[in-house]
Amino acid sequence: PVPFDVERVRRDFPILQQEVNGHPLVYLDNAATTQKPRAVIQALVDYYEGYNSNVHRAAHALSERATQAFEDARDTVGRFLNVADRREIVWTSGVTESINLVAWSWGRANLKAGDRVLVSAMEHHSNIVPWQLVAEPLGATVEPIPVDETGTLDMEAFRALLDERVRMVSVGHVSNALGSINPVEEIIAAAHAVGALTLIDGAQAVGHFPVDVQALGCDFYAVSAHKVFGPTGIGALYGRLALLESMPPWQGGGEMIETVSFAGTTYGGVPHKFEAGTPNIADVIGFGAAIDYLNSLDRAGAQRHEDDLLAYAEERARATEGLRLVGTAQAKTGVMSFLVDGTHPADLGTLLDHQGVAVRTGHHCAQPIMDQFGIPGTVRVSLAFYNTREDIDRLFAALDKARQFF
Ligand code: PMP
Repeated sequence: PVPFDVERVRRDFPILQQEVNGHPLVYLDNAATTQKPRAVIQALVDYYEGYNSNVHRAAHALSERATQAFEDARDTVGRFLNVADRREIVWTSGVTESINLVAWSWGRANLKAGDRVLVSAMEHHSNIVPWQLVAEPLGATVEPIPVDETGTLDMEAFRALLDERVRMVSVGHVSNALGSINPVEEIIAAAHAVGALTLIDGAQAVGHFPVDVQALGCDFYAVSAHKVFGPTGIGALYGRLALLESMPPWQGGGEMIETVSFAGTTYGGVPHKFEAGTPNIADVIGFGAAIDYLNSLDRAGAQRHEDDLLAYAEERARATEGLRLVGTAQAKTGVMSFLVDGTHPADLGTLLDHQGVAVRTGHHCAQPIMDQFGIPGTVRVSLAFYNTREDIDRLFAALDKARQFF
C-alpha cells in the first residue's frame, strides 16, 4: 500500500465532504459507528443491481454468484482475524448478537448453579446483559472485574477473583466509553489456567489495530462490521472450531438444519448450524469490501496517525481549564471522554453540533463504570484514521465558543 495520507483517504468517504449546520462536518463519533468508503457503498449497489438472490440453495447463476461472494467474505473476515479454519467465522448481526449467541448456546448448556461469569466493570451493556439473562435463572453469577479510577483493569484483583467456579471471562479488548486497551493476552492466559473460557469483545479494537485470534488464544472474539467502515447490522463471531462444534444451536429455522422430521431434527455443520434463516447477504458482502478496503491502506501508518491525533487531543484537553479527562489509562486508543466544569454533557454536545462537530454524550451503554465514577456520563470524542489535526482544532474552538453560553 502507498504510505498513509489522510487527505487522500478522506476522499474515499463521500459523507465527510459536507456541511452540517452551516459548517464543514467534523465527525468525531466513530466509536458509535464509522463512516463507509465508496468501495463499500459500491459493493452494496453492485449486489442489489447485479446479482441479488438467495444463497446456498437455488440452481441458478445469480444465486451461485451471491453464494460465492457471501462465502468469499467469510474467507476475508477469517483472514482479517487470522482464524485457523474458515468455519470458525459465524455471521451475526454484530457484537451484541455474537455475545448473545455464546451466552444462549454455550452458556445455557454449560453454566450451573454456583458457576461464575466475570466481565469487567467497564463493559458495554451488550457484554453484561446477555450473561445476566442466561446466568441468573441457572443460579450462576455475573461479577465485575474491578477497574481503577484511571479506567485501567485491576489485574491483581482479577487474579484474586479467579477460581475453578469461574467458567467464562468475557471482556472488551478496548473500552468504548474510556478508550482503555485491556491486556487481553494476560487475561486469556490467566482465565485458561483455572479452566475458564474467554470471549473478547473486539468492537472497538479491530478498527484501530490488527488482531490475531490465534496469537491471543481466546475462545471467542466478537466484531461488528459498522465499527470497521462496513455496513450496520452485520458482524461476526469467531469461535474455536471444536468449541463451536460442541455447542447446540440457539435459533432454529431454514439453512441451519441437515434433516427435519417430526421424529427429530438434525442440524447442519458449523458455521451453518448458527446461521438460521436467510442471512444478511448484502451486508456480509459489504463487510468483506470494508476489510478489503482496510487491507488496501497502510495500516501501520494509519495507526500512527490516529495515535498522534489522540495524543494531540489529550494534550490540548490537559491545557484547557475546567476540562477533566475521564479515562486516563496508560494504554488507550481512539477515545477521549471528558467533562467540562459547570456544563452538562448533553448541552455541550448540542452546542458542538450547532458548529458542525459531531460527538456523543451520555453513558455510552456503560452505566456501571459511570456509576463507579459518580458521573451521569461524558462527552466522548472518538477517532478514526480519516480524522485530522484540523478536526481537533475545530473541536477545541467549538468548545471555547460553547462555554461562552454557560
Ligand atoms: N461492545 C462495544 C465495546 C461497543 O462499543 C459496541 C457498540 N457501541 C458494542 C459492544 C455493541 O455493538 P453492536 O451494537 O454493533 O452490536
